[in-house]
Amino acid sequence: MVKYLFVTGGVLSSVGKGILTSSIGKMLQSRGLKVTVIKIDPYVNVDAGTMNPYMHGEVFVTDDGGETDLDLGWYERFLDLSLKQENNITTGSIYKAVIEKERRGDFLGRCVQIIPHVTNEIKSHFRKIARTSNAEVVLTEVGGTVGDIEGLPFLEAIRQMRLEEGFENTLYVHVALVPILDVTQEMKTKPLQHSVNELRRIGIQPDTIVARSPKMIDAEALRKIALFGTIPENAVFCSYNAESVYQVPLILDSQGMGDFICQRLNYACTRPYFVQWKEFVDAVVKPEHELNIALVGKYAGLTDSYVSMGEALRHGGAANKTKICITYLEAEKFEQDPQCISELNNFDGVFVPYGFGPRGTEGKMAAAKFARENDIPFLGICYGFQIATIEFARNVCGLKDANSTEINPNTPHPVIDLMPEQRGIENKGATMRLGSHKVVLEKGTMAYNLYRTQEVKERHRHRFEVNLDYLDVLCKNGMVYSGKSADGRRMETLELPDRYFYFASQFHGEFRSRPGRPSPEYYGFITACLNRKLGKPKPTFS
Ligand code: GLN
Repeated sequence: MVKYLFVTGGVLSSVGKGILTSSIGKMLQSRGLKVTVIKIDPYVNVDAGTMNPYMHGEVFVTDDGGETDLDLGWYERFLDLSLKQENNITTGSIYKAVIEKERRGDFLGRCVQIIPHVTNEIKSHFRKIARTSNAEVVLTEVGGTVGDIEGLPFLEAIRQMRLEEGFENTLYVHVALVPILDVTQEMKTKPLQHSVNELRRIGIQPDTIVARSPKMIDAEALRKIALFGTIPENAVFCSYNAESVYQVPLILDSQGMGDFICQRLNYACTRPYFVQWKEFVDAVVKPEHELNIALVGKYAGLTDSYVSMGEALRHGGAANKTKICITYLEAEKFEQDPQCISELNNFDGVFVPYGFGPRGTEGKMAAAKFARENDIPFLGICYGFQIATIEFARNVCGLKDANSTEINPNTPHPVIDLMPEQRGIENKGATMRLGSHKVVLEKGTMAYNLYRTQEVKERHRHRFEVNLDYLDVLCKNGMVYSGKSADGRRMETLELPDRYFYFASQFHGEFRSRPGRPSPEYYGFITACLNRKLGKPKPTFS
């Protein structure tokens, strides 16, 4: 019998529901249970692909090409899963399915309503994922905050799940903020109490409550949460601020949350196995070195825009027992004041991330040029790869005003151009080159040495690519495209062998990076930054 666990949030969003859900998954997984995770996003977009990263954070790309919420990235990193597009549902995706059925005539003669048709669609989605994933526990995180109008159909579906699946097969976890007042240093549980009431009004009584607070809640706060939440005190847990998010499963497990959930779901309580996880956490919280990395991007004001990239850098850091300090620099700054570029001398490495549209691209090119000329380790991802190609075409190959047609459609040298299959596509939703594609690495190159294999599968999200008409001139001038698509026509990685470390990829290694198993390109970059800082020779990775 599959068990369903639901996580709701109260008081305000961004209380770390994603990390909590991932941590609960980790506690169960470390006891030998097979888990999967669903994220509900109550907005009307069919997927996250059409949203601005500056508002909503990054779009996390799954192996099957889903453009999903960034929380799926946390689930994958914590649980080492490869999730699918269907693990992220939205109001848009559910209504789309219901409306398609209605048009097909599946409900012929009937009036189609939120209850039961929309709620049935939601429940059947939960069950479908339970079936196809073979998981023993399906965790579902409900995005937004309890009380939001757009979340109501989802909460109603969850309420019905208890009736249909039974008490011992369903569990409601509610997490809410417990702030500490500056003036009195008092822990305030009233907002949490209100959010529990809001949940009950809908007909859901939480089985366990997690207080999200700056520090461990005191006995008085715990007593109040239990009393007003109508749950025993041993069903209240506290997720306090930790040095690293990867500590959260260990913190909650030490409070007994893992055992509590197992008992409640009628699983024999086994001791959790956290050995490798703890090793990784130790490397994160007790580093021996420190590196300062400059991330030169367009969405620098919201670090959530680059969350997977930041984590991949940290995974590479942990493998080197190194703390990674990232400074998010707005690329446009280097356009407004070109002198500023020498600031990059203060960093151990320069990183140019993904991006779209013209804004900030000249600044990114200035950063790539500065790193290349001053031999500062450089890693470029997706747009960063394209930027590195353009900069090289302009300043090494002498192709004046070379550009991407995304940035300047009239450039005399379109070294980056739209992929042929993209021509004529008008719809913006889910139409890029997405998801896992095979990349073939050439023996003897750094890419091959880093990945230690000839064929890798990496995730993609782009419309433009290196224009093959310019391949000759780029390569004659020293650029090495060490990774290509299976047919050899699509450039996937580049490297400059005469530099200390200069590497970029069209794909996004960060999406497959895991604690204890960093993405090779990120690992290579961090190792190079550290070697250079310690005055060691450049790493060959062979
Ligand atoms: N804008 C570029 C493209 O569409 C790069 C996309 C990205 O960085 N993800 O090809």
